[in-house]
Amino acid sequence: MRDLPAIAFDNSYARDLEGFYVPWTGTKAPAPKVLRLNTALAAELGLDASALATDAGAAMLSGGVTPEGAAPLAMAYAGHQFGGFSPQLGDGRALLLGEVIDRMGQRRDIHLKGSGRTPFSRGGDGKAVLGPVLREYLFGEAMHALGIPSTRALAATLTGEPVIRQKRPEPGAVLARVAASHLRVGTFQFFAARGEVDKVRKLADYAIHRHFPEIADRSDRYLELFRRVRDTQAALIAQWVLVGFVHGVMNTDNTAISGETIDYGPCAFIDAYDPKAVFSSIDELGRYAFGNQPPIMHWNLTRLAETLVELVNPDDSDDAVRQLTNEINAFPAHYQQFWLQGMRTKLGLFKKMPGDLDLANDLLTATEGQSVDYTGLFRALAALVRGDVTPARALFADPVRFDGWAGHYSRRMAGEDIRATERAKAMDRVNPIYIPRNHLVDAALKAAEAGDMGPFDRLIEVLSAPFTPQEAAEAFAAPAPADFGKFVTFCGT
Ligand code: AMP
Ligand code: MG
Repeated sequence: MRDLPAIAFDNSYARDLEGFYVPWTGTKAPAPKVLRLNTALAAELGLDASALATDAGAAMLSGGVTPEGAAPLAMAYAGHQFGGFSPQLGDGRALLLGEVIDRMGQRRDIHLKGSGRTPFSRGGDGKAVLGPVLREYLFGEAMHALGIPSTRALAATLTGEPVIRQKRPEPGAVLARVAASHLRVGTFQFFAARGEVDKVRKLADYAIHRHFPEIADRSDRYLELFRRVRDTQAALIAQWVLVGFVHGVMNTDNTAISGETIDYGPCAFIDAYDPKAVFSSIDELGRYAFGNQPPIMHWNLTRLAETLVELVNPDDSDDAVRQLTNEINAFPAHYQQFWLQGMRTKLGLFKKMPGDLDLANDLLTATEGQSVDYTGLFRALAALVRGDVTPARALFADPVRFDGWAGHYSRRMAGEDIRATERAKAMDRVNPIYIPRNHLVDAALKAAEAGDMGPFDRLIEVLSAPFTPQEAAEAFAAPAPADFGKFVTFCGT
């Protein structure tokens, strides 16, 4: 214990929410070793990175040794998984180690995933393996660099123990994850499903204090809590769609109250714009397809609203349902506003004009069946704004499809008194050159599993500055080669 890194924990969940978790400790890993440490994030949290990288740090980050001041616990939560309700999920292979206040004064959870069985494990082994751990590490960093709210990896730690997955041994690993909190829609559902209204209220009060303290004194604070969660989620899903991200497993237990992206399992980025795009091997019906993400979040938020009925009006549930329904019904319009504003920014449009929604939609329609790289398209549009139409036209199998749209776009831009160079620069600030391309992620994880961390490190390096042209990084900007085929990911367990 003596040489464990000193961390100034302040564990509000353990302190304030007794009965919402089971105090628990991780399983001792046989030979823990920190494989990758996020030193920038460690600094942000005020942690001593060099102490985390030691043997004592590895023992702590794998869950087997509890540092001074931590109060490790397994959180209770329920969830709708692919539409079916599981009244008890909970941290079956994870622990909330504790909370720290970061350099900006924000409270952050330090959470371990793959730290061993807990009372919530059911049939599972409580473990995680290297590939999915590094996948979550990489995607969290990529999303963060793209400016999209996300949990982030603090460390990936090898346990030194092989774990059997799909009949073959894989290196066991633990992800140390940092989040604004681990409150989920499913946390509310766990207590609401048991009819424990007092606990739902306590949870809502906790969520308000932690994420929306400015509404704590409002008489309509529970309805307002719902509005705030709705709007942070509408903004989040718009950001996903604008950048071409498919989460892949938008169960209500993977929907965070904080508005951060959480739980990177079978996620991926699209190449061509395709609302039907599905990458997860288990999503056979396309419930969580790329274009289905806004309606699914609407559905998930409806499940959250159901847990808040008795809080919104304890005396008249019809009235509460009416008020909540009004707020739920506003989701699609709010989502569309966020998305449209995002598209304006991507297209370098400064003013709001009536035809903008059609202009944005027409661009996507023009790409249909043309195998246009979605990410590349917006950088090519910046080139067009600078006067070179060739890169954009070259993306289209039938460039005439593009020309018609480009005419509208030029007329729309002429309605604003903005210099082309300024407009193009503004576009380049929001349209990434580099995203986690499926074939590159795949190759980096395969190499890591074979003991070569080079491709993983290089990919993270490039993705950490997604808007800036980098030297010798052309391959990172290109879509998958034709022979890569249709990309399928398997649930990250
Ligand atoms: P996830 O798919 O990671 O969002 O997890 C969904 C639920 O399954 C959570 O309750 C997890 O704790 C649980 N779970 C996933 N994998 C395992 C595992 N290997 N052992 C025990 N529980 C697990
Ligand atoms: Mg989950």
